[in-house]
Amino acid sequence: MRDGIEMDRRTVLGSLAALGVGAGLAGARGGELGLASAERGADRMGFDPASGEYVLPELPYAYDALEPVIDEQTMRIHHGKHHAGYVRGLNAALAELRAIRAGGDDALIEHWTRKLSFHAGGHINHALFWTGMAPAGQGGGGRPEGTLARAIDASFVSFDGFSAQFRSAAKKVEGSGWAWLVREPLSGDLMVLQMHNQQHSVFGGATPLLGIDVWEHAYYLSYQNRRAAYVDRFMEIVNWGEVARRYEASAG
Ligand code: FE
Repeated sequence: MRDGIEMDRRTVLGSLAALGVGAGLAGARGGELGLASAERGADRMGFDPASGEYVLPELPYAYDALEPVIDEQTMRIHHGKHHAGYVRGLNAALAELRAIRAGGDDALIEHWTRKLSFHAGGHINHALFWTGMAPAGQGGGGRPEGTLARAIDASFVSFDGFSAQFRSAAKKVEGSGWAWLVREPLSGDLMVLQMHNQQHSVFGGATPLLGIDVWEHAYYLSYQNRRAAYVDRFMEIVNWGEVARRYEASAG
């Protein structure tokens, strides 16, 4: 049974990466989740090897730590309800596909593939989102340094150029989605991309470095319809040290 679970996971992750599902699953060079070594395992990325299931990863800070940029209630609902829902949906989709392989109705593969795509993308995107932020002045905000700063300058002319493009992409997502800073794996160029819902439009193989969730659940309690204000203030809590770590891992 244990082998069966392991195979399920590898199959799923490989399939999702092939579909361009979930920014965190692309660029599978660092580990089974396609992430740098420090993100492997059951901690911040939420896979529990003991149970063979995904679990909701703990936040690396308190629920109120990102205030006033993101309020405590939003964080509690976003993490404890929305992200938890993606984890449940991911495990459920895996279980259903496992049952189909054991003799179930293969006509349902399309349905559960779609569910898997959505929930796995939601899980990975949020796991990266939480760790991509830090309390302002305590790891959050400021500007990147070192090789990441030089890479941003090379791809966007300047940090301000990057910031303007990243924020613009986030503000202009139609409906629910994300904006991502990613590293293109062959050229090494950094790019800003949009993602709709949880899985679409991510360039295959690109390594996610920084993402901002612009679903309404991410900001509506404090900002209501003012997404642009939320996006602008998000820059005050970007964990550039973590983004730099991801960049170094992707380039290594
Ligand atoms: Fe979200």
